[in-house]
Amino acid sequence: MSSEQGHCLCGAVKFEVTLENHQVGVCHCDMCRRWGGASMMVETHTPPRFEDSSQVRVHASSDWAERGFCAQCGSHLFYRLKSDSFYGIPVGLFDDNGQPWALAMEVFIEEKPGFYSFAGDARKLTGAELFAQHGAEGSDASDPSRS
Ligand SMILES: [Zn+2]
Ligand SMILES: [Zn+2]
Repeated sequence: MSSEQGHCLCGAVKFEVTLENHQVGVCHCDMCRRWGGASMMVETHTPPRFEDSSQVRVHASSDWAERGFCAQCGSHLFYRLKSDSFYGIPVGLFDDNGQPWALAMEVFIEEKPGFYSFAGDARKLTGAELFAQHGAEGSDASDPSRS
């Protein structure tokens, strides 16, 4: 467990969050790519604690998940499940703390476009494999008809 601090691009939203580890997951699903080009997040089961949440907006991106963003600058702040305490926090929001992050997992690998790929030997899961392991955690795209 560690406590990390971060902020959005404009600084209107500052937060602290308790992390269970420093493992980064990449989601290649089409919703994450539409949201921000790509999604690199740290998972946690503790809600972020906002210094001032007045500029935090939430978009219900599916029946089961919501995505938070800054009303001033549009920075993505979190992905969360409505039914669970699961949060994904974009790793780029965190203040420089020596870069302890490690790319641990790539999900929805079957939706990854061909024009990019990550080096290294991170675990790669399809959407179906992700749901089998974690239920709906980790992505909006948990409609089984998509897989
Ligand atoms: Zn902002
Ligand atoms: Zn995704």
